[in-house]
Amino acid sequence: MNVRVGSGHDTHRLVAGRPLILGGVRVEYPKGLDGHSDADVVLHAVTDALLGAAALGDIGDLFPDTDLANRDADSRIFLAAAMEKLTAAGWRVGNLDVTVFAQEPKLGPVKAAIRARLAELLGVPADAVSVKAKTGEKVGHIGRGEAIGCHATVLIAKTGHG
Ligand code: MG
Repeated sequence: MNVRVGSGHDTHRLVAGRPLILGGVRVEYPKGLDGHSDADVVLHAVTDALLGAAALGDIGDLFPDTDLANRDADSRIFLAAAMEKLTAAGWRVGNLDVTVFAQEPKLGPVKAAIRARLAELLGVPADAVSVKAKTGEKVGHIGRGEAIGCHATVLIAKTGHG
């Protein structure tokens, strides 16, 4: 079996007047993430991990932030495009491990929903997806509540020939 590992990382600023969307799940919070698209930091990190594992470039190659078509785009579109590329190249997802860095809001109550959504988007069982949450220990831009970050690691596999 041919296996590859990929990692992805992303950070977005927290601002007033935007919805907070993490891993395709709307999270109730007075602020949201700023960005050209819906700024879903989790889906961006996962998309980059997938593309990285298959050495197929990065999210900015596929969806430039200079392209007006991507303004406020639902980031599930980016993830679906990456999955399509991987599937076309014969890869399937083994497992995904995600760590979200946020001082606030507390992510304990939404981790299960994010996990279920990610499993659905990747077409894998929920037990192949892990979602962990860390605070910023009140230091740095994340610890001060100015941003949310995410790190994702994915394993992909190709069975049979190729
Ligand atoms: Mg991003």
